[in-house]
Amino acid sequence: MIIMKTDATEEDILRVVLLVEESGLRASVIRGEYQTVIGPVGDERRLDFDRVATFPGVKEAARVEAPYKLISREYARFFGEPGAHSRVSIRGVRIGNGDPVIIAGPCAVESRQQIMRIAEEVKRAGAHILRGGIFKPRSSVHAFQGIGSRGLAGAEEALKWLREAGNAFDMPIVTEVRGESMVELVARYADIMHIGARNMYDQDLLADVARMGKPVLLKRHFGASIEELLSFSEYIAAEGNKDLILCERGIVPVGKGKSYTRYMLDLAAVPVIHKETYLPVIVDPSHGTGRQDLIFDMSCASIAAGADGLMIETHYNPAEALVDGPQMVTPGELRDIIEACQALYRMKQTVRRNRHE
Ligand code: PEP
Ligand code: MN
Repeated sequence: MIIMKTDATEEDILRVVLLVEESGLRASVIRGEYQTVIGPVGDERRLDFDRVATFPGVKEAARVEAPYKLISREYARFFGEPGAHSRVSIRGVRIGNGDPVIIAGPCAVESRQQIMRIAEEVKRAGAHILRGGIFKPRSSVHAFQGIGSRGLAGAEEALKWLREAGNAFDMPIVTEVRGESMVELVARYADIMHIGARNMYDQDLLADVARMGKPVLLKRHFGASIEELLSFSEYIAAEGNKDLILCERGIVPVGKGKSYTRYMLDLAAVPVIHKETYLPVIVDPSHGTGRQDLIFDMSCASIAAGADGLMIETHYNPAEALVDGPQMVTPGELRDIIEACQALYRMKQTVRRNRHE
């Protein structure tokens, strides 16, 4: 990590960047309000930090031995507000450091009529962002794979429906991208590029998606430690994309016998990630539990844990959904969840404010 002096010139910065690049690394340049920080990306042993430290305009240059640093709080202290985490803005909706943001919609986009109706109903319930899967990662090859599996034309048609529904009800849209060949197509329509749990380990996909320059929603793999999630997030930051939102969606349950939930929601991940990084974190209680009857409580618990938002699968008639019906709430239930979560968030804010007064 190379910290420039407050009066460092553009020439000073360029000189450092050139040396980083000549050493075979990439340079991630973060320009803060007062200071510029340069993060070398790659094998830092190849860079002579002692030499960098003697360059004009350089305040401090030191090797950081950590699997992630560009997303770390340590790094953010040079450009962010102390204590705060970053805010990702998408068409007027802001995730992070503010009211919880609700992402809602079906698991899979099934038809134009379905997504239009769900968009209208979730908007009325108070949702801010519309979700809907076009490429569904299913365990069985015989299960419905999403409209995207019908080829490029099918995928594009479904993306247009989702876009139309988002525009009609004034909500940004988020949808999962699977496979590097689909990245550009999805980026043409989506406001937020969602990388599903199963693809968290795909560095090439992560880098390709990050390069689209759109906000990225990265879900934790169900077998990944928090450190792995953060290490893989760094592949996105290393492409210069800082608009990253992380999502806790449950990990594989432990122990023999019935686990009662589809996954085990690791809510401690929320405050841990907030302490380690400056990134906003949301929770997906739908996949995290797999149970409609647990969504209200686990949504409240997520907000209590400090989540910046929630992703909740919603359908006007869960019984007719082709995918994940048992974990879907109705728009009416979504409204109650949102109301409770907003009240909880306000209560936490009030307590915190009073304590600091
Ligand atoms: C989804 O959100 O549509 C999804 C498939 O979730 P996950 O990748 O967390 O399983
Ligand atoms: Mn689903």
